[in-house]
Amino acid sequence: MIASDPEGEAIEFGIAEPVDAAYAELSIDPITGEFHFLPSDLARVRAAIDPAARTITFTLSASDGLNARTINLLAPITPKHPAGDGILDLADLDTLAQYGALQVSENDSGLIGAIIGTFTDDKVENADDARSVLRKVAELLGVYEEISGAIDVQVVDFGEGSDATSERFYRLTQTFNDVPVLGAEIVLTTAADGTVTGVFSGWDPAVYGVDSTPSQTIDDAQEITTVATDVLLSRLGRSLPAEEAEAFVSSLAFHTNLVIYPAADAQPVLVWQVDVSAPIVLDTEMTNPETPDPVLTIARYYIYANGADAGSLLTEHTLFDNAWSSQTVTADGLTHGGLFNPPVSYTITIETDGGAARMVDAGRRITIYKGTKGHIRGVTRSPVGSGPDWAYDHDTVFTLDNDVVTKGFFGWDPSAVSAMGNMKKVVEFYNSLGWNFSRIPNSRGVQVGLVGELGTAGAHWDPVLLNFAFGSDTEAALDVVAHEFTHAVQYSISPATAGFRGSQGEALAEAYGDILGSLIEGKSGADRWLVGEDAQGDPARDMRNPDSSNLEQYRNALKFDRAAYLMMSHPDTSAVSTAAWAKIFYTSMWRLPSDPTFQNARNAVIASASVQGLTPQQQNVIADAFTAVGITETPRVKIILRWGANPNDLDSHLTGPSSGSGPRFHIYYGARNYFQDGSYTGALPPCSGHGICGYAASGSVAGVRFLS
Ligand SMILES: [Zn+2]
Repeated sequence: MIASDPEGEAIEFGIAEPVDAAYAELSIDPITGEFHFLPSDLARVRAAIDPAARTITFTLSASDGLNARTINLLAPITPKHPAGDGILDLADLDTLAQYGALQVSENDSGLIGAIIGTFTDDKVENADDARSVLRKVAELLGVYEEISGAIDVQVVDFGEGSDATSERFYRLTQTFNDVPVLGAEIVLTTAADGTVTGVFSGWDPAVYGVDSTPSQTIDDAQEITTVATDVLLSRLGRSLPAEEAEAFVSSLAFHTNLVIYPAADAQPVLVWQVDVSAPIVLDTEMTNPETPDPVLTIARYYIYANGADAGSLLTEHTLFDNAWSSQTVTADGLTHGGLFNPPVSYTITIETDGGAARMVDAGRRITIYKGTKGHIRGVTRSPVGSGPDWAYDHDTVFTLDNDVVTKGFFGWDPSAVSAMGNMKKVVEFYNSLGWNFSRIPNSRGVQVGLVGELGTAGAHWDPVLLNFAFGSDTEAALDVVAHEFTHAVQYSISPATAGFRGSQGEALAEAYGDILGSLIEGKSGADRWLVGEDAQGDPARDMRNPDSSNLEQYRNALKFDRAAYLMMSHPDTSAVSTAAWAKIFYTSMWRLPSDPTFQNARNAVIASASVQGLTPQQQNVIADAFTAVGITETPRVKIILRWGANPNDLDSHLTGPSSGSGPRFHIYYGARNYFQDGSYTGALPPCSGHGICGYAASGSVAGVRFLS
């Protein structure tokens, strides 16, 4: 700073308005006027997050003792993002969270389960960019191997012009020693311009304890196929003569893949996934010469690949999804709100040929079939097998071939009209969200079968045959049709697992079906929250009431349903439209790993709400709604010891009294375990060489002391 005084008096320089010492050092030489300004790291971090903080103002003064002049200065701050050094660690996350730039959530493994917000200023334009950003957060997410696998990229666009929003979803599947882990994924999300908006982890640290080498007794294709064939024959043997069954099996193809199969509350296991497929014989008019004939996967088996159970069946693929609990109904026409009301009318598209007409909407690729009891392409489905979490007892299925509904002498079957009319609305709705049925590989479009009764279920989406069935006139209810269709959408998000898997994942699949069903139906008042009130008989469920179903899976789903009810009926979200809620819930499904937890879904919904422009106050309403139904962030005490290459052994010990009456805990290199609520639960992931190791004590730990 330079100043002159006309009377030649000595000038003293000074600081008239200082800067906040947290953000910069500022000093000035009172005689020479030379000043020194140095922004702190904190100021540079703040500048990276908040463009308004990329300058700091201060005021200097010059005085001859009588008169003073001041000058305002604007110093530019070079942004420095915490992740700019290549790694985003816990301290960086804390810094970003302090500025409100991020929300961070831990999962039950004590790892970061979700980071909601722009945690890096790197732009992501492609899978390679996504990999390099994921490497920065790998350690936080518990990823101990090089991130190099294939990344699946999905784009979801809404709206046009200034209202347009667009999101990109980069999905990386976990592998261990090159073996994929079923349902364990990390999803990185960005805006259309490549700005990172969050990361969501379904990574499973327990797989690091899995032996990934198959047993010699079951390590070649013939050994595996033999087991699968035995299982298949035992299923067919229920109704087919032995020679016919064996002839049928010999026409099939068996594809085997080694995968790690995570299990709730148990160690993951190494299994062979065997997909059994048959060639589809297409109607000539449906054959597109430009695409190869699809194959039909008729069964999927998981066979233990090592350990004591090597060569035996772990589980079969869940074949059916039920939307409906058992109902006794009297149905003789598709009306809403009672048998004596007038029929509901729909505008539908069908195909005609001369005097004949059939229930095919070629543009939307919807076909309505009349179902019968019987077989599907020679494979008996009566009764089907049971999965680990579900049991089914269907006695009715429909055949696809040659059973398209046609117009009869007395006009259209009202069931078929309702099915077509409601399916059309659902297809159009999902098209408006940027999803269409071609996202399901090998499908023949929207195939809908109508049957009189569907066992104990009213409606289902079949993730193996890729079709829908509605019984007991459930096709009259738009929310039920939308519920089943949402399962098909989930299938496209997680094709490797045919939709969300695991006990919480299956409950979430049902809850998302109910919620999107309600939003697509778009009713107001109490009917908005009833599932299937437009079918005959009592509604299947009430989304407001977790006790409104007798079935365990639906009771879990209803917890999530109730959270949706609470957040959507809160006065602070009254300005959020039905369409906006639909976008939030739809895009949140893309944020989920294929084996999701309720907590994953809580984070995903909040993140989608943030991207869709809901205010922080409205996001709090969402968080509070989840908390109210018990879907919460787990409070925990966690201590992590970290060190680098030098010194390579700090001989660190963590010990202290447990809460309650349990023993003291003692965690160190030789005993690496989680300690929770008075007992040790499961081993921590191994350290990567002499690099950074995490030792955690989680749960409620009173009076922790730290010794090293
Ligand atoms: Zn369902």
